[in-house]
Amino acid sequence: MNGCPRLEVYLDRIRHNARHVVKLCSALGIEVMGITKGVCAWEPVVRCMIEAGVAKLGDSRLKNVRTLRQAAPGVPVYLIRIPMVSELEQVVAYADGSFHSEVEVVRLLSERATALGRRHKVILMVDVGDLREGVMPEDVLATVAKISALPGIEFEGLGTNVGCYGGVLPTRENTAILVELAQEIERSLGLKVSTVSGGNTATLALAERGELPQGITQLRVGEAILLGTDTTGSRPVPGTFQDTMVLKAEVIELKLKPSVPRGKIGRDAFGRTPVFEDRGLMRRAIVALGRQDCNVEGLVPLDSRIRVLGASGDHMLLDVTYLSETEIRVGSIVEFRPTYSTMLGLMTSPYVLKTPVNSA
Ligand SMILES: *Cc1c(COP(=O)(O)O)cnc(C)c1O
Repeated sequence: MNGCPRLEVYLDRIRHNARHVVKLCSALGIEVMGITKGVCAWEPVVRCMIEAGVAKLGDSRLKNVRTLRQAAPGVPVYLIRIPMVSELEQVVAYADGSFHSEVEVVRLLSERATALGRRHKVILMVDVGDLREGVMPEDVLATVAKISALPGIEFEGLGTNVGCYGGVLPTRENTAILVELAQEIERSLGLKVSTVSGGNTATLALAERGELPQGITQLRVGEAILLGTDTTGSRPVPGTFQDTMVLKAEVIELKLKPSVPRGKIGRDAFGRTPVFEDRGLMRRAIVALGRQDCNVEGLVPLDSRIRVLGASGDHMLLDVTYLSETEIRVGSIVEFRPTYSTMLGLMTSPYVLKTPVNSA
């Protein structure tokens, strides 16, 4: 498959990253839930995670959960975004467990599960400061008392997520809140808390430094496996590959043009008022890729001499002044590395081919 734009995904490097994360965590007695939403539960990558020994799989979208169910028979599958009421029946049908923060939703889930003759596992999310999903710590005990009494529900444990909305970094202190709550549930409610799901990729930093509190049993990891990065901690994850994915786009125009547009400036195609710096004449390339495919701000050219000027819906403009005429021409391929948010768009776009590759 040679079409463009195409995202080449290095399976051997992702498998290595997954093995690295599993090894780091298992040395601390922690299981890894492999999170697949970044690649839409794409089967070649799901297989890499399973081969690397992840204990469970999780995704935020029910559509992807269905894919996981088929791609990974025998591996427990979880819906990690707190579900919509309108999808509860399918949650019971396709997932072994799911993450929650609303008693009312768990009550309805229990009804759906009972109707299907099943018991569905529930992990209660706790907000330790990032202000995304989760019940406040002071409400956890009362909430667990209610949901654990529901007939269709098996209360499995607690979870937390930081570094996503508020950008709050995981610390020993905010992660320990979860462990203390789990102990309190066992003490005062007499319930077993089998899973304490301590965080995502950002929390790996605590595991590396030996600062993860005793009692965390699980981490849910996507980004560190897929891209070898930790965006919240703004760092590469030591021991992993970052060159796991390369986007290839094709040059459709290459011309010497001024660096400042001629004419009265209004708004661009996305309603913004563009600003330009006069750098004289510039060798400019257009590649066939645009905002409809992904967030172009998150594409980094592999050749550091290439500068991204901007993009419209279908065209991306590059300053290629520092490349020689033999290095780039119409029909040439330009390579980029995507950030996490750009990977999401590329994987979702039906215009972008996805090709599994292995490094030589
Ligand atoms: C996306 C997500 C994760 C995985 O986060 P990464 O930073 O990709 O490791 C874990 N938990 C929840 C609830 C998520 O939404």
